[in-house]
Amino acid sequence: MADIELRLDRLDHTPAAIARTAARDVRTVFPESTLISLEGRHPDPLFLAVMEHGNETVGWEALKKLQAWMAHHPLPRSMLILIGNVRAAELQSRMVPGRPDYNRIWTGGETPEHALAQQVLEIARAAKPFAAIDLHNNTGANPLYALVHKERAPDLQLTSLFAAHAMLTRNPPGTLSEAFSDFCPAITAECGQSGVAANETAAFNLVLDALHLDHWRGAADLELDLYTVTGRIEISPEARIVFEHGADGDVELPASLEKWNFFDRPAGSTFARVLNGGDVIRVRDDQGRDVTTDVFRREGDRLLLTRDFTPAMLTVNEAAIRADCLGYLMEKA
Ligand SMILES: [Zn+2]
Repeated sequence: MADIELRLDRLDHTPAAIARTAARDVRTVFPESTLISLEGRHPDPLFLAVMEHGNETVGWEALKKLQAWMAHHPLPRSMLILIGNVRAAELQSRMVPGRPDYNRIWTGGETPEHALAQQVLEIARAAKPFAAIDLHNNTGANPLYALVHKERAPDLQLTSLFAAHAMLTRNPPGTLSEAFSDFCPAITAECGQSGVAANETAAFNLVLDALHLDHWRGAADLELDLYTVTGRIEISPEARIVFEHGADGDVELPASLEKWNFFDRPAGSTFARVLNGGDVIRVRDDQGRDVTTDVFRREGDRLLLTRDFTPAMLTVNEAAIRADCLGYLMEKA
């Protein structure tokens, strides 16, 4: 991987130009990744990350709403705001081709991106954050949900400010919110698909609610459906994926696959068809162990679920499947 130079810019205000700038033009305001420090009444800052993935615009739009709100309200709490992968945003893609995913660089690694993440982590850790929120969109259709990494009361309360569903997970490794969960309550807020106004409002409301929290009460605000991840579903790079019965391919999935997200799928139901044999669908647990035969059994060309599962993040977007995975299988925690 050819090395590039990455620098972290620092600001103590939000530039006015944010309001009239589209996410893809972010580099006209922030030429490089930028950490903005804002002073508020409570000194322990709320850390907010936007656009770790360049094509997920919800964080940028929430930042616009926050800036408009701040024009008329004093900040109840200090903030650290990270404007993440501006180069990927310019390309309107998850990440820059050939470069690391900005939501996988928060544990050890040798690239300039990993060094950038370490620099942000050091500054943030020293600031003793009240909480950390990383705003993301999903490729597939999902309800609002959070990724949470520790079953601690403050983390669950933070989750409950946002959604009734959460995945308790340490997978995939190297995510921002997991790294932050070592020293503060931290979640990834998965805000549904990009470009949906209601999702942007939900993200902004989460930030506003977290800013107004004076302290952690030690309980969630609503009853959470908390799931643990049994495995991440991967499809072999060479396998041809089809979403239509009878089409020529290696893996056949239903076109309505995304409708299964956060809905229970019973034991014995068909998940996929493997048309030409082979281990083209594999499921790995948090530790990377192959658990395919624990979750699927074969019946002819059909893959059936061995137990009741709740899928999440399933997508029919082939580019997303290839770059990341097909989705996850979860069980109630
Ligand atoms: Zn993302």
